Amino acid sequence: MFDYLVVGAGFAGSVLAERLANGLGKKVLICDKRSHIGGNAYDHFNDDGLLVHKYGPHIFHTNSEYVFNYLSRFTEWREYYHRVLASVDGLQVPIPINLDTINKLYGLSLTSFELEEFFEKARQPREHIRTSEDVVVNAVGKELYEKFFRGYTRKQWGLDPSELDASVTARVPVRINRDDRYFTDTYQAMPKYGYTRMFEKMLDSPNIKVLLNCDYREIIDEIPYREMIYSGPIDSFFDYTYGPLPYRSLEFKHETHNTQVFQNAPVVNYPNGQPYTRVTEFKYLTGQQHEKTSVVYEYPRAEGDPYYPIPRKENADLYNRYKTLADAQPNVHFVGRLATYKYYNMDQVVAQALNVYRKIAEERSARTAATTILPTSASRPGFVPQSSLRSSNGNGVSGRKVV
Ligand code: FAD
Ligand code: UDP
Repeated sequence: MFDYLVVGAGFAGSVLAERLANGLGKKVLICDKRSHIGGNAYDHFNDDGLLVHKYGPHIFHTNSEYVFNYLSRFTEWREYYHRVLASVDGLQVPIPINLDTINKLYGLSLTSFELEEFFEKARQPREHIRTSEDVVVNAVGKELYEKFFRGYTRKQWGLDPSELDASVTARVPVRINRDDRYFTDTYQAMPKYGYTRMFEKMLDSPNIKVLLNCDYREIIDEIPYREMIYSGPIDSFFDYTYGPLPYRSLEFKHETHNTQVFQNAPVVNYPNGQPYTRVTEFKYLTGQQHEKTSVVYEYPRAEGDPYYPIPRKENADLYNRYKTLADAQPNVHFVGRLATYKYYNMDQVVAQALNVYRKIAEERSARTAATTILPTSASRPGFVPQSSLRSSNGNGVSGRKVV
């Protein structure tokens, strides 16, 4: 009998498997329908020996010391500051838009003060910032919006920015200085030996069994367990009762080139013109020395693996209907980007998983305290009262013994 069946070996599933196994001594079975652990952060050495990210570039950044320290138990780090160029008007200029972007694009030599005035003249103030169009037009005006954001967003999401929540383009700031880092988080680093190695360390416990190439549906009636951690798509869990939740997919085209360097930056974005959104050259991210170089092109797709929840109101409303079902689901904890339908970065998923763990652990110790204060025949050492399995399970849902 396993204490937990964990569905999905990405960040959500692996963090919880590790904590439940090593923090609470639980017996955990973690399964993934893919042939590897790591979820979308999975990396591997390709045929030429270059370390690549199978599902597109994953750059770790966080402001959370807690999350960074937690992951540091499983990896050393390589400091890495991500930089991106956008291909616009035949030039390659920094994105997020900054002082150099504007000066290069318009052949100017503005100072930061003058750039503030430039944006002040260009921007079209919007009283209410509701959509992704509002965010950008309000900050820098229509022309820069068209050059950098409109085409990219339409390509990436299959929707106009005016149809997407403000939160999507708000991920990319506008700067008046020359800072060309993509992120400004306190911690910016890549796992020194790659993500997969980090996941291997996380799951390396006598209390954890890993089952790959396995959809959880194939085993739930065969393998006994008490509770489930579910990190797959929430609509799929409920057999699409309310219809499918929209997710955006991508097709990745990997190439290896017989040259040391392929492009001028780790990532080059193509807002307009090309069918792909961006090209990533992995050696910048990994720091690997190699006579060849590997890149990946990202082609947005409507169909395929679900990579991105699509942030807009109607989708949030549909998700909330599924969440009501999830909250009433006994003994299942829904965690991660797909199961909680949130456009989360890796660190946010780790934080979410650690919070779910904390609740599970707190409830467990509350139960232990209660049985200590009120000794009954059921509180003898080693006995887990059946009633305790029916109490809230940490996600605000009531628990039930599954098997
Ligand atoms: P996932 O990694 O998707 O893991 C879920 C796992 O569940 C999958 O492995 C899946 O196979 C498995 N699964 C699903 N259904 C079943 C089933 N029925 N049975 C068994 N297994 C199942 N974040 C950053 O912080 N920085 C970045 O630079 C960054 N870049 C990204 C680039 C791309 C192209 C994408 C798509 C995402 C990026 N992210 C980035 C986000 C990051 O990938 C996620 O935050 C993180 O991987 C989410 O972890 P998760 O465990 O919730 O989901
Ligand atoms: N975006 C854009 N142009 C760019 C970069 C980003 O329009 O050059 C928009 C686009 O809608 C994108 C969103 O901002 O989906 C968030 O960008 P980010 O780089 O955070 O996307 P991710 O890495 O999650 O794909």
